[in-house]
Amino acid sequence: MSTEKFLEVSGLKKYFDVGRSTLFSSQSRSLHAVDGVDFTLRHSEVIALVGESGCGKSTLALLLMGLEDPTEGTVMYEGRDITHLGDHQRKDLRRKIQMVFQDPYESLNPTQTIEEIVTEPLAVHGLTHERDERVKKAMEDAGLKPAEVYLKRYPHELSGGQRQRVVIAAALVLEPEIILADEPVSMLDVSIRAEIINLLAELRITRQIAVIFITHDLGSVGFFADRVAVMYLGRIVEIGTMLEVLEKPQHPYTKALISVIPVPNPRLRRERIILQGETPNPIDIPTGCRFHPRCPVAFATCNASDPPMVTLSKTHQAACLLLVK
Ligand code: SF4
Repeated sequence: MSTEKFLEVSGLKKYFDVGRSTLFSSQSRSLHAVDGVDFTLRHSEVIALVGESGCGKSTLALLLMGLEDPTEGTVMYEGRDITHLGDHQRKDLRRKIQMVFQDPYESLNPTQTIEEIVTEPLAVHGLTHERDERVKKAMEDAGLKPAEVYLKRYPHELSGGQRQRVVIAAALVLEPEIILADEPVSMLDVSIRAEIINLLAELRITRQIAVIFITHDLGSVGFFADRVAVMYLGRIVEIGTMLEVLEKPQHPYTKALISVIPVPNPRLRRERIILQGETPNPIDIPTGCRFHPRCPVAFATCNASDPPMVTLSKTHQAACLLLVK
């Protein structure tokens, strides 16, 4: 894995205006979907963005794809600021950063054959050179081998796992450098989730693709990711290598997420930390540490001081007042 950073996200925020709180109120309110996110990605690195639903990870994906404009912050790609690109430049960039959505049933047009689906991105980008070879290679790299068996089929004739492979083939055909996979296995049977994760793991090696793997399930990341970023209410609260985060978690939220990952060996089972209450409404972010209403180890000042990111090692950081020396 190269150490060169090629995607750099700094201070990224996305607020949505949600109107006034009451008919008579003059104050407009905003939903803080992404609220100051920083991270970098290196060539062919896999980073997992983990958090409960509503933590802002899917909005973050849309910002990275340029499908939403950020309220603040920058996204640099290969040293170039891509935060506010025009349509033409954005289209060019989309070749490099491809998205794989959660639902392979909804992402595929049921009236198109697999060949048409995988060919379409080439047509959109005006790439006609070696079209058939590219389609065949993308399909086979996505595990649809031999490609000829699938070309004339329709999505309804395939299993859920095969459909997700078609979605991945349609991304691969443009030879991307980054795949942004938003909960790519959550709609699939447990038995085929590992196959799709293994496929992404293979692609980062064979095609040198970096992967941003978005998931609510820390357990599904396994040892596939190089680094893990844990998100809570629009912010990264802990980031580190897979080993640092899974074996030495420092943020109480990460510890709670890890405590509920099923462990096959009963002797290795950890004490489950059950968080009280729901994730607060991102329109009404708690004061101080945004995790304090649910934190099992919160103390007096947690509702007043917003914890800074504390550096624990060259690769490991967490935002908790207990870590501030
Ligand atoms: Fe919990 Fe306080 Fe740390 Fe926030 S700062 S995670 S409330 S201990």
